[in-house]
Amino acid sequence: MDRLGSFSSDPSDKPPCRGCSSYLMEPYIKCAECGPPPFFLCLQCFTRGFEYKKHQSDHTYEIMTSDFPVLDPSWTAQEEMALLEAVMDCGFGNWQDVANQMCTKTKEECEKHYMKHFINNPLFASTLLNLKQAEEAKTADTAIPFHSAEDPPRPTFDSLLSRDMAGYMPARADFIEEFDNYAEWDLRDIDFVEDDSDILHGRRSAPPLNLTGLPGTEKLNEKEKELCQMVRLVPGAYLEYKSALLNECNKQGGLRLAQARALIKIDVNKTRKIYDFLIREGYITKA
Ligand SMILES: [Zn+2]
Ligand SMILES: [Zn+2]
Repeated sequence: MDRLGSFSSDPSDKPPCRGCSSYLMEPYIKCAECGPPPFFLCLQCFTRGFEYKKHQSDHTYEIMTSDFPVLDPSWTAQEEMALLEAVMDCGFGNWQDVANQMCTKTKEECEKHYMKHFINNPLFASTLLNLKQAEEAKTADTAIPFHSAEDPPRPTFDSLLSRDMAGYMPARADFIEEFDNYAEWDLRDIDFVEDDSDILHGRRSAPPLNLTGLPGTEKLNEKEKELCQMVRLVPGAYLEYKSALLNECNKQGGLRLAQARALIKIDVNKTRKIYDFLIREGYITKA
C-alpha cells in the first residue's frame, strides 16, 4: 500500500528527497532497508550514491512510480487515480470537466474507461445487487409496528427509513425543517389592507373588537384602544407584547420588524401593525 501514497498528484503531499530536499518527481527511489519513516531519494541523488547516517548506497531499493498500467494497457495507475479524483471533484457524468482536469485523456476516453471499469465491472456487480435488494426490501420490513406506548415509535438507528426520515422528530410528529422553509418568505412583507381584501374576496372583514369589560382595557390610552379594536387584539395580550418589544428595544437600542416577529409568535400582519404603531407613537425606535 506504500506505493499508493506516491500516486497523489500534489507533490507537496510527499516528503522531499533526503539528499537534496527537492520535491520528488516520479520515478524516484525508496530504500528498502531504511525507515520507517521511508527514506526517499530522487534519481539524481540516487545515481550520485548519496549516503546519510544509516543509509548506504548499496542498500536494496524500490523504484517508485505509478507509470504502469493497472486495468487497461493505455491507462497508467497515475491516470486511474487522477480519473477517480477528477470524478470526485467534478461529479459523475461531467466528463468534459473530468477530461479537462485529467489533461491526458479525452472526454470520451474518460467516460468509456470509467463506465467499463468502475460502473459495469462485474467485480462490483454484487454490491450493486445488494443495494437493489435492500431497496426492494425497504418497504417490506422497515415499517414500524404499532404498539401503544408512552414513547413515540422511532425507526431503527441507521435504517433506510431513519435516513429517509432524517430530521423527523417523533415526539413532535414534525420535521425539524419545514418542507419549504421559505414558503412564507415572499408574503412576509405583504400587508393586506382590509378594503382590498373585501374587494378581492367579496367578504366583509372582521368587525372591530369590542373591548368592553376586557381586562387591561383601563390601562390603554385612546390610540391603543383603537389599535386593539382594529387589530382585534385583547388588551392583556397587547400589553404583554408591548412590554416585550419595549424591553428588547431598550436592550438592543432599537428594534427591527424581523426581531419583533421573532419575539411575538402571532399573525405576522398583526405583529407589523403593533410594531408600526409602537414606532409611530414613539414607544420604540427602529434599529
Ligand atoms: Zn535528491
Ligand atoms: Zn537505506
